[in-house]
This record gives sequence, structure tokens and C-alpha cells, in this order.
Amino acid sequence: MTALATHHNLIAGESCAALSGRTLDVLDPADGQVFATLPRSDARDIAAAVAAARAAFRGPWGRATATERGRVLSRLSALILQQQDELSALECRDTGKPIQQARADIAACARYFEYYGGAADKLHGETIPYAQGSTVLALRVPFGVTGHIIPWNYPAQIFGRSAGGALAAGNACVVKPAEDACLTPLRIAALALQAGLPAGALNIVCGLGVEAGAALAGHPGINHLSFTGSPQTGTAVTQAAAVNHVPVTLELGGKSPQILFADADLVQALPVLVNAIVQNAGQTCAAGSRVLIEKRIYADVMAALTQRFEALITGPGSQGLDCGPLISRKQLDRVSAMVDAARADGIRSVARAQLVKNAPAGGFYFPPQLLDEVPPEHTIAQSEVFGPVLAAFAFDGEDQAVDLANGTPFGLTAAVWTRDGARQLRVAQQIDAGQVFINNYGAGGGIELPFGGMKHSGHGREKAFEGLRSFTTIKTIAIQHG
Ligand code: NAD
Repeated sequence: MTALATHHNLIAGESCAALSGRTLDVLDPADGQVFATLPRSDARDIAAAVAAARAAFRGPWGRATATERGRVLSRLSALILQQQDELSALECRDTGKPIQQARADIAACARYFEYYGGAADKLHGETIPYAQGSTVLALRVPFGVTGHIIPWNYPAQIFGRSAGGALAAGNACVVKPAEDACLTPLRIAALALQAGLPAGALNIVCGLGVEAGAALAGHPGINHLSFTGSPQTGTAVTQAAAVNHVPVTLELGGKSPQILFADADLVQALPVLVNAIVQNAGQTCAAGSRVLIEKRIYADVMAALTQRFEALITGPGSQGLDCGPLISRKQLDRVSAMVDAARADGIRSVARAQLVKNAPAGGFYFPPQLLDEVPPEHTIAQSEVFGPVLAAFAFDGEDQAVDLANGTPFGLTAAVWTRDGARQLRVAQQIDAGQVFINNYGAGGGIELPFGGMKHSGHGREKAFEGLRSFTTIKTIAIQHG
């Protein structure tokens, strides 16, 4: 039997076990086997990390100029790209995602640090015309110590998005990655030290949400909290942060609609529609999990989608197939139960992808499925499945399309497929979503595009320059000089 790899927290630039000495097992989603351990941290480890971040903020990181901060992040970006092969293999094993997707995620993570490295010295405040004989400065300043709680679906990407923006703005960070996948954030944080980031400016504390996560959300020493995860946990962390009046950015779930009008270019649309739900096995906040199809093309589109779903192959991420396993047994049970309940209520699953022949028995595989004529009020039409399950709906006319699109508690992303230019904008403007794509779907979109939700999908924005501003506040200095 090979020895398990032991991973540690990174606090004050030191690699350390949890103070309790406890660990968590890390499972490979492809075969369900334990291949490493993580520290099971608690409030004491979080307190140490917050203290280290505060010291870095008061010390070398707080004193670094914006240009120096930018250079460190740019160097980190280059180091990530240099180690793309190793990091991609680690992300693939830890999350189960196909290797080509893991490579894209590592490249995106590097791009976040490149983008925010370049943006660091372009962020500035304003002067305000005020009373005679006075000058007023509205300085844009970092919060201080920022907390980051991130999920397991895109550990490297969301780490880059969240910590990249916060560090560029001059904050010192404490990151609590998800217990199901946190190996790439740990590795990338070690590379950040190599890139010249002072010890303590970026701390990673692994552990369970209810232990380490809750301790971070409720810690009085943090000045801002960025949370990406489920709406339920979003409520819990907001309540914990409210006790200390800590501002919170929430990036939550979605039930994103793709609206397909009869005049759409189907050759262009169909592969994008399928990818939007199959990518990362549907475990994407911005997954295109609902397809709304204009009635007169419904039967033809469903036939074409059925063909595409049945040709998809699911298997271990390392084999680079169309779809990998889900992250965990818990997630597999959850997705299976939701689909079983829908079928018990008479909803038809009209297409199912294949499982590769040699898939290990213990893996968490759920080949993609296509659900036909889903009643809009059904749970599976309203709740996030977070698996590769596409629900199809028919509509007649623009008004019904918009009502269906907006008819869930979520509002993260959407797509409108039509060749009619006026309709493109008319419909896009009526949809409640933080991002609307026309004749394309970016499942989260580029790094340069502001991203975040409306309604239960959260509030605040990350990505883009907007994401950098989110990690700052305004301090006004009014000088009466006569
Ligand atoms: P989750 O809410 O269970 O966990 C997210 C993080 O919160 C993890 O690090 C977890 O350890 C931590 N956590 C759990 N309970 C906690 C508590 N009581 N206090 C503090 N922290 C706690 O979500 P998940 O299952 O890991 O991720 C899936 C969800 O995340 C989906 O709803 C998905 O849509 C959403 N998501 C959103 C985005 C976005 O950018 N909008 C991106 C990825 C995922």
C-alpha cells in the first residue's frame, strides 16, 4: 500500500498541521479511494491565520506599493503556468474533472493573477469639489484582512478570482477552501511565497465548513468576507458576519436558462447548450441547466439534443472524456435522488449518456441526462441540481419565454439564442440575471466580465475591475486649507 500524501495549512508562510492534530481524508472521485489527508482545522487555526494576515497587512504587504503588489501577482501567474501540467493533474484527481477541463481551470487561475497583477496600480480614488478653501480626497483603500470561503467545484479558479482581487487591492487574506477539494489552492499559495508574497499575506486553512468555515465567517478580526457556495450556507455566513458588521460578497447558485427561439442558428447553439450543462459534470453555479425551446422547433431540438446526450461518454477525469465523476458520494446521492423523484412524478428522462466500460466501480459517476417537458413549478425546475441534468421546457412567444426564464428564485446567468437583433436586446434586458449572453454561453464568462447574481444567486460582483473595487472601501479626507 502506498503512503498517503499529507497536506498542511499555510499560515504565516509556514506549512503546519491543524493545532488539534486531526485530519480529513481526501477521496479520488474517480474510484472513491482515499489518496491523501488534509488538516481538519478549527477556530484556533483560523485565529492564528487571521493574526498572521493582520501582521502582514500592518507590515510588509500593507507597505508594498501598488506596483510591487502587481509584480508579485504577475510573477505568481507565470509560476502557475510553468507548473500547469502538475497543477492540472492535481486538480483532475482532487475534483474528478476531465484533464482538459482541469488544464483550462489552471490557465484561468493564472489569468486571474495576471489580470489583477496588471490592474493593481490602475485602481485609484477621486477628488471631490467641496467648500471654498478645501480639498477633499476620496481614497480607495483595502479593507485590511479579508476572509474567503470557496467551494469544491472550481477550487483553483475561484481561489484566483477571489484572492487575486483582494491581494491586488492590498488586503491580506485568509482562505478556507472546501473540504472536498483544496489541493490546488494550497499548492498555488506556496508558489505565491516563491513569487515574493510576504509570509502571512495569504493564508490557507483547510477544514470542515461547520468548523473552520464558520469560525472564519464569525471571526471579529476580518474586515470583509467573500463567500462562494450554496444559498443555504450563504445565509449562515451572512448571519455570522453580521454580528461583527463585516460586509459580505455572496456568489451563490443558479438555475440558468438558455432561451432558444425558432430563428436561432441551431448548428451554433446545440454544442454550446450541451457543453453548458456537461462541463464539470454540471457542478457549475452558472450551468445552463434549463433549456427553453420555442414550441414549433421543440420536437426537432429535443431529437438533436437526445442524439448528442447519448453520444457523450462519462468516465475518470484522467481519461479526458466528455464528463467526469461527481465530486463525492454525497453529491451522487443528492443528484440521483432528485432525478428519481422527478421520474416518479412522471417526468421523462429521454436521453442518458454512456459510462465508459472500464470505469472503476467505486467512482461517483452520473452520466448526463435530458429531461423532457418539465413542469415549471416542479422541484427539478426550481432547485439547483448541481449535476449534469438538463431540463427542457417549451414556450410560445417572447413573454412566456421571459416569464419562464425569470420563474425561479435564482438570477445568475442566461442566454438568448435568436437572429433577430431587436429581440436579442429586448429579451436580454428583461431577464433577471447578472450576466446574459446572446448567441453564446460562457458558463461564468471571462475573467474581464463582471460576474455575480441577482435574487438568490447572491449580491456583489467578482471578476473584472468591478471585482477589484469590491475588495476596497472609500476613506474620505477633507482638508480645510484656506
Ligand atoms: P457549500 O455552501 O456547502 O460550501 C461552500 C464552502 O462553504 C465550503 O468551503 C464549505 O466548507 C463552506 N461551509 C459550509 N458550511 C459552512 C458554514 N456553516 N459556515 C461557513 N462555511 C461553511 O457549497 P458547495 O456544495 O461546496 O458548492 C456548491 C454551491 O456553490 C452551489 O450552490 C453552487 O451553485 C455554488 N457556487 C457558486 C459559484 C458562484 O460564483 N456564484 C461558484 C461555484 C459554486
